[in-house]
Amino acid sequence: MSTPLTLIGLGPMGQAMVAKFLANGHPTTVWNRTASRADGVVALGATRAATVREAVDASKLIVLSLTDYAAMYDILDGQSIAGKTIVNLSSDTPAQTLKAAAWAAERGAELLAGGVMVPAPLVGEEGAYVFYSGPRAVFDEHRDTLAVIGRPDHLGEDHSLAQLFYLAQLDYFLTTLGGLLHSFALVRSAGVPFAKFAPYLKDNADSMSMYLEETVRNLEEGEYPGDLANIVMMGATADHVVGASEASGVDDELPKAIQSLYRRGIAAGRGHENWTALYEVIKPAG
Ligand code: NDP
Repeated sequence: MSTPLTLIGLGPMGQAMVAKFLANGHPTTVWNRTASRADGVVALGATRAATVREAVDASKLIVLSLTDYAAMYDILDGQSIAGKTIVNLSSDTPAQTLKAAAWAAERGAELLAGGVMVPAPLVGEEGAYVFYSGPRAVFDEHRDTLAVIGRPDHLGEDHSLAQLFYLAQLDYFLTTLGGLLHSFALVRSAGVPFAKFAPYLKDNADSMSMYLEETVRNLEEGEYPGDLANIVMMGATADHVVGASEASGVDDELPKAIQSLYRRGIAAGRGHENWTALYEVIKPAG
């Protein structure tokens, strides 16, 4: 029989995970603060726990899909969790993840921290993956079960790593989504239909991965050669984006943040280095 598990937290992500666990034959017990949110997955075959205690007692493997780590304490503080493996797939800071690992250890439980890298409709679908960090042996024990919701990638024993990778991915994602909407606002300010600009933006988005190889090489070597796209030239363009935003009444906070990076790169004497030298402005000092 496939490993039974308990899943606590039935937002869109938790519900999608339960559906996949059930479809793969894992007996799944569920609990959610707002009980009605369990109705859909119970109809699919999940067992509804009436209390947190019942949910924790039902399985050794407890998967959490909550808004943050504070929700885990709200739910599990005061409950005996000795001998349990808690896989927390909720978002938070790396520091909170480390604190939670100590909290679990004090109570005789193991914590695996995770970060799911796809939205709910893609959970368990082709290309889905999930970062994990924490004890390797615990990960190995549950790897096959966890594979149901996406390819499990174990990053290391340090509990904070999964959250760090997750947030670094979200850092890029959120910044890019902000840029995407800003671009649309700029063209729309001239009355251009969104759909007319969309194919060009798609072309731009599709080409982003092309910059990765050169970026990694420059960052690894700490050298930023290249005069095709240096900081002075790119910075002038950043000024123009701010100017166009101001002139059209489009919010300028996002392009101003980018403009600031380029200005500080120039002030640091890096104007004639490749744009990748902005890393020196961004990274921690010292
Ligand atoms: P939701 O915010 O919809 O669901 C969060 C769950 O946490 C709900 O079950 C909610 O209960 C519960 N919860 C929150 N606070 C408390 C609390 N204090 N006590 C008890 N229960 C609490 O989130 P999602 O399902 O969208 O996401 C879950 C996690 O997955 C988040 O950390 C999110 O960042 C991450 N994630 C989300 C993605 C997405 O596309 N949605 C993609 C990748 C990761 P209740 O129903 O009672 O409110």
